[in-house]
Amino acid sequence: MRDETRRWIQSDQAHCWHPFTRQDEWCAAGHEPLIITHGQGAWLWDSEGRRYFDGNSSIWTNIHGHAHPVISAAISRQLQKTAHISFLGFSHPGAAELADRLCKFFPEATLERVFFSDNGSTAIECALKMAVQFRLQTGAPQRNEFVAFADGYHGDTLGAASLGGVGRFFERFKNHGYPVTHVRSLADLRALDPGKIAGVVIEPLIQGVNEMRPWPSGMLAELRQWCDESRVHLILDEVMTGFGRTGTLFACQQENVIPDFLCLAKGLTGGTLPMAATLTTGAIYQAFLGAPENAFYYGHSYTANPLGCAAALASLDVFEQEQTLDKLPAKIIHLRAGLAVLKAAHPIIHEVRQCGFVAGIELRQPGGEKFPATMRFGESICQAARAHGLLTRPILDTLVLMPPLCTTLAEIDHVLAALHATLQSPDLDRIWPSGDSLRM
Ligand SMILES: *Cc1c(COP(=O)(O)O)cnc(C)c1O
Repeated sequence: MRDETRRWIQSDQAHCWHPFTRQDEWCAAGHEPLIITHGQGAWLWDSEGRRYFDGNSSIWTNIHGHAHPVISAAISRQLQKTAHISFLGFSHPGAAELADRLCKFFPEATLERVFFSDNGSTAIECALKMAVQFRLQTGAPQRNEFVAFADGYHGDTLGAASLGGVGRFFERFKNHGYPVTHVRSLADLRALDPGKIAGVVIEPLIQGVNEMRPWPSGMLAELRQWCDESRVHLILDEVMTGFGRTGTLFACQQENVIPDFLCLAKGLTGGTLPMAATLTTGAIYQAFLGAPENAFYYGHSYTANPLGCAAALASLDVFEQEQTLDKLPAKIIHLRAGLAVLKAAHPIIHEVRQCGFVAGIELRQPGGEKFPATMRFGESICQAARAHGLLTRPILDTLVLMPPLCTTLAEIDHVLAALHATLQSPDLDRIWPSGDSLRM
């Protein structure tokens, strides 16, 4: 190991605190975390000069590849002018243009206002606060509760976390947030009294953190209809699904659904800078006019940061220049076919779940039983995949494949070959000694 790698690891283990991480393991002697130093296209390099395919788009953010020249140049140009401008009391060209372009993706007189913030969680917080305040200002204060879907994920700040349905993350904090009812299905939802509900929140088409679980086709359109009939706002969390992941720019377009609130973050800047947007309708916006106390008193210091806006505008340009969405169907088909071959070759692949260019590969014992949770089988597999040039993370025993949209067919083949090699390597015997039958 190079001296500088050793030095970075020592400093990290002495002082950094990582998200969703068991720090005792992270800091254990002998644990050598990868220090990633740079990227190009869909690839990342570590401080030892090793190259890996970025199989989960750097935690679901990257869209057009790392160090994309168009996005990098746009950020540099903005940086020459200024890195930040307060959006409280001022405006700037980037924010004005970005808001205009985001709204133009939707029919006129639908989503027409954009509130900028910093990340997926704040995009959700904004939508929740707007939804509550809207009811207070339109004579329906009793409609102050939210409905979310079991096993959903909407971020980690307290408000967003109270919507979350993944027990292992949210159980401890459930008494510290909004009143939220969790439902499993539309049937559950229909059984509720809508008179107290401000809004329903959902990850459209596919739940990400819930091991990449797609919704039945048509479900979103039915939910929209129920919301209309029940006068409940539909809040779409497209933090993960936004910007092409599911095959269309936004997932909701696949079922011709327009929400009352649309939350965007991760891919908004192409995966370069933290930035989020909450879009809403003119009808909702109207309720915040008039009396001074009707204003939306909410904001963050870096709201509408000009570097983020420049990156987001450049990312939208790249969608056009590279015809990113037009090229996606062939990649989605190639990935689906490749995953079917992989599944056929490996009995431990229990199920492949794919929605657009996002896939979850669930591993189980060949008999269909889950691996004991304490084994952390999925983690071991992802760790082993590094030796084959693939970086990704599992969710429990589901391997996540979420390649940047710029990934080529040849690169998809690299990913599939890396998974194939990982799943048939002798290492597997070390991870699962009784698993001779895992290999064919
Ligand atoms: C990642 C994610 C969030 C939270 O976004 P952060 O930027 O991590 O706060 C919210 N909702 C969904 C669906 C996500 O995938």
